[in-house]
Amino acid sequence: MHNLDDLTARFEAEAAAVTDRAAWEALRVAWTGRKQGLLRSLETEIKNVPPEERRSFGAGVNTLKLRVEERLAELDQQLAQAEIAAARAASRLDVTLPGKGLGLGSLHPVTLVAQEIEEIFKSLGYSVAEGPEVEDDYHNFEALNFPQDHPARDTQDTLFLENGLLLRTHTSPVQIRTMLGRQQPPIRVICPGRVYRNDNDLRHSPMFHQVEGLAVGEGISLADLKGTLEAFLKRLFSPGTAIRMRPSFFPFTEPSAEVDITCPFCAGGGCAVCSQTGWMEILGSGMVDPRVLAGCGIDPERYSGFAFGLGLDRVAMIRYGFDNIRMLFENDERVLRQIPLRQGG
Ligand SMILES: [Zn+2]
Repeated sequence: MHNLDDLTARFEAEAAAVTDRAAWEALRVAWTGRKQGLLRSLETEIKNVPPEERRSFGAGVNTLKLRVEERLAELDQQLAQAEIAAARAASRLDVTLPGKGLGLGSLHPVTLVAQEIEEIFKSLGYSVAEGPEVEDDYHNFEALNFPQDHPARDTQDTLFLENGLLLRTHTSPVQIRTMLGRQQPPIRVICPGRVYRNDNDLRHSPMFHQVEGLAVGEGISLADLKGTLEAFLKRLFSPGTAIRMRPSFFPFTEPSAEVDITCPFCAGGGCAVCSQTGWMEILGSGMVDPRVLAGCGIDPERYSGFAFGLGLDRVAMIRYGFDNIRMLFENDERVLRQIPLRQGG
């Protein structure tokens, strides 16, 4: 016959040693298992106990059984809590870890320069006009006074499409469209946009960006052109920038002038970039040819105007120190990361 006190002590010792689910399961089977559990064999033992001891032995077995069940339940709960805590620890969110950066983008240097130029001209009373990049001969050449045999109309310079269409070679057709669009003077617009030429080397890309300006009104003179360009270029580069105009030729302006600024790299002192001249060519300009005005239905006897155009890519290259125009269009992140989000920022 089993000694119940010894069995109770043995159970308590075994229960105290349980540290995981497997040990708990082994303990449960050993004591309460339906076939070989110790409690089961104690219960079958009761009928073999002498009658005078049977009652107290039965009561003792029952007490042990209750204790075993109570202790197993208690251990079960402790193990469950430990398991939940372990699962939480495994999936815990550490709010102090640095986040995965999404990478803040920035505007392209050409976009930055275009925005800056638009802001300058808006403050001078100009509005922004846009037009199609696929043009026809009339808007791109004829209305701008290009003769039929002008070299710019050659396939070496112009990218022609089917049906007589072409990729615009300058933003000037937007000026024509603005004047033809029944907009009577005074007109003050700038036209920024992409233009295309059959050209590809270190200084030329088949696609590049221009901005042109057009002002038409009564009594507009060359002095207005010079004053406007001076105000514009001083704000775009620096207040100390001086300009000089050199006679030139463009089909749609008469007279025409190339405009130089004091070299932004040496402030006019002479350096390698400006070939020691202290000057840098920056834009083309002139008084709108009366024939162009007349062709757009504007009376050249009453109105006059000026026009100018410059390369946005060239300004971006000067501003950000690129010496190869293709760097602007290759989207190399190492290049683009060096561009500040804002001017001077
Ligand atoms: Zn210089």
